[in-house]
Parts: sequence; C-alpha cells; structure tokens
Amino acid sequence: MLETSAEDLAMIRQTVRNFVRTRLHPLEPAIDAADDVDPQLLAQLRGEVAKLGLYGFNMPAELGGPGLSVTAQVVIAEEVTRTIVALTEVFGHLPLSLALCNAEQRSRLLPGIVRGEKTVTYALTEPDAGSDLGAIKTRAVKVDGGWRLDGSKQFISNVETSDYVIVLAATDPSAPLKRKLGTFIVEGANPGIRGLTRFRKMGWRGYHLNGFSLEGCVVPDRDVLGAPSDGFLAMMKSINHDRLFAACRCLGLAARAHEMSLDWAKERVTFGAPLAQHQAIQFMIADNDTEIVAARALIRLAAELADAGSPDFRIAASRAKLYASEMVGRVTDRVLQIFGGMGYMCDLPIERFYRDARAFRIGEGTSEMQRLQIARHVLAS
Ligand SMILES: Cc1cc2nc3c(=O)[nH]c(=O)nc-3n(C[C@H](O)[C@H](O)[C@H](O)COP(=O)(O)OP(=O)(O)OC[C@H]3O[C@@H](n4cnc5c(N)ncnc54)[C@H](O)[C@@H]3O)c2cc1C
Repeated sequence: MLETSAEDLAMIRQTVRNFVRTRLHPLEPAIDAADDVDPQLLAQLRGEVAKLGLYGFNMPAELGGPGLSVTAQVVIAEEVTRTIVALTEVFGHLPLSLALCNAEQRSRLLPGIVRGEKTVTYALTEPDAGSDLGAIKTRAVKVDGGWRLDGSKQFISNVETSDYVIVLAATDPSAPLKRKLGTFIVEGANPGIRGLTRFRKMGWRGYHLNGFSLEGCVVPDRDVLGAPSDGFLAMMKSINHDRLFAACRCLGLAARAHEMSLDWAKERVTFGAPLAQHQAIQFMIADNDTEIVAARALIRLAAELADAGSPDFRIAASRAKLYASEMVGRVTDRVLQIFGGMGYMCDLPIERFYRDARAFRIGEGTSEMQRLQIARHVLAS
C-alpha cells in the first residue's frame, strides 16, 4: 500500500475536482436528457483519466493499480462522485474480486481492464435473488473444457457495453452458501448471453441497467475466477469496498447539492432579504452540513479500519453505506426545497440529484440488509 502525503493527496484531489468540473459537468445535461452516452466518448474520457494516472484508482499495486491506501481512495472517491453515475464510471472503481485472477489471467485480462481499455461489470442479481443471493438459480455445469451457464440476471450495470461480465452462478446447488457458487468471466460478446433488455428507470440516466438470460453459455476453464466454489469468497473480496464506494457516491452527490444550495441561498432574495438570512433556511443548511460531515466521518473511519486490516471494517462499511445513502435522500430533498420552484424544474440539476439519490438505498445492499448486518453484529457483541 502506497503512503500518500497530505500534500500529494490534496494535489490529486484538486486535479480530480478540476477534471470533473471542467470536463464532465458540461456533458451532464445532454446525457441526462438523452438517457444515453456515446460509448466512444466514455472510452475517450477513460483514456484522459488514465493519462492523469487515476483510472482504476482503487486497484492494489499487485493487480496493476496505483496501490493507494483506502483512506486516500475515499478522499478521491468523494471528488469523482461529484458527477452523474454514468460519468463517474470513467474513473474505474474496479471489482476487487479480480484479486482471485491466477497468473495467466493477470497477464491476459488485467492490463486491459486496469488501463480502462476493457470494461467489466458484475452480475449477481436475478429475478428471484437480490438481497438473498443464496437463492441464485443460474446454474453452472461442468462440460468438456469449460462450464455451461444457464439462467437469468437482472438490474446488471452496463452489460451492453461491457467487454467482460463477471457472473455468479451455482456450481453446487446443494452445498452451503459459502461453497455453492462460482464466478465466471464471460466475454460480453459470448453468444450465450441472450435477450439483452434495458430497464427504464427513475434516475442514473445514461447508465444502463440490463436484464439478460444465459442460454447454453459456454465459458472456457481459463475464465473461471478462483476455484469453482470460490464465488462467495470473490464476493467477499469486493462487497465491503463496494459498499464504502457507494457511501462515497452519496457523499459526493450530497456535498455538491449542498454547495449549490449555499450559493442560491445567498443570492435569492425574498421578503427583502437573501434566503440565507431566513432562519428556516438556515436550519436546513445546518442539518445538511451536519449530516454531510457525519457521513464523511463514518466513511473515513471505515477506510482507516480497512487500512489497519481490522475485521471491524465490514460493519463500519455497512454503517457508512446505510447512513450516507439515507443522508443523501434527506439532503437532496432539503436542497430542492431551498431552491423552491426552480429546484423542481429541469433547467437546473437539482431535480436530477433528487432522482439519482434514491437508488442508493437499494443498490450495493439495501438499507434493510445493512440494518440486519449491523443489528446482528451489535447483538452478538
Ligand atoms: C441502480 C441500481 C444498480 C444496480 N446494479 C447492479 C449490478 O451492477 N449488478 C448486480 O448484480 N445487481 C445490481 N443491482 C441490483 C441490486 O443489488 C438489488 O436490487 C438489491 O440487492 C435488492 O435486491 P432486489 O431488488 O431483488 O430486492 P429484494 O431482495 O426483493 O427486496 C425487496 C425489499 O425487501 C427488503 N427485504 C428483503 N429481504 C428482507 C428481510 N429479510 N428483512 C427485511 N427486509 C427485507 C429489501 O431490503 C427491499 O427493500 C442494482 C440495483 C440498482 C437499483
């Protein structure tokens, strides 16, 4: 793990902030309106981020990434998430389950992924298995030279443009959850991926969630990640870090919305005074500020525990994800209220922030799943 000095981290943070403001913010309205983004543009932006040395910023050095501490990663993550989800992707927060790649996979697959030339998505959820991943029905059966996958997945990010889809499937359905699943790196162009559909959704426009079926989808042995029973282990490599990144997404969105509301409250005059001088508005500003600071503190605490290798990281990541995903809903709601009618209009991004915030209570483990984990931990200690 690379130690980053406070000065270096401040410099990286400023670089990211400038890139997000000058390069990404101007692209947002058109992407939101079209609910689409040109894959060529995304590839170009990934290249620009790679030139800054920031693509795949969460990857450890042994996987070809910059090897930053998690504490440094969350500082960067708060900046990369101050744009729409479709554009945050150009920074490449990559699945840590790739740590299970063997030597051959590391040399064949990882360099392209870590440089942003190849994209990857993670397919866990199914029509009958979301929170309850033990209910996964997609079946992987051993065949000559590989595995045949059959089943269906839904709500999977960007399958239509991904070079690789990392699929979780049951290799031994009767085994306990920890040994039941395997992980398969399926090429996006595999003809066994059928019936690709795109969900219409409330927010996160330009970032597509797909459903698809796997029908006689043959994956060669060389594309199994880890052992055929390592699916749960692969998930565990990523899950807490992904939850922490989801919390950072909420923090970045809330901080950006809050800052815009401060400018508005100072400029907009009602009853002869700027909004900022009315106590009811001040109370909303104070609540937003306090909740943003609290979310940041929970995120940094979780990051420190991750860097220390503490087992408490798991629950700390759940707490951060739970709090930040609920906080961003409250903050964007208050910000919209501070903007009044203009907040509801599509001329400003405020209504978009409000729409985009809602998904965070569902993706990367719902609020209820985080509460269950936290309660079990508290009750057991
Ligand atoms: C924007 C977005 C992006 C996503 N991206 C991906 C992706 O890239 N890859 C992927 O694999 N998946 C992805 N998902 C899917 C996501 O992980 C699931 O939607 C999530 O895990 C919830 O599963 P579900 O939708 O099946 O809800 P369900 O599991 O059916 O749950 C429905 C509701 O019941 C609650 N509930 C369920 N069981 C219990 C219980 N025991 N006690 C109390 N409450 C309970 C849940 O919290 C939820 O509120 C994405 C989802 C969204 C919204």
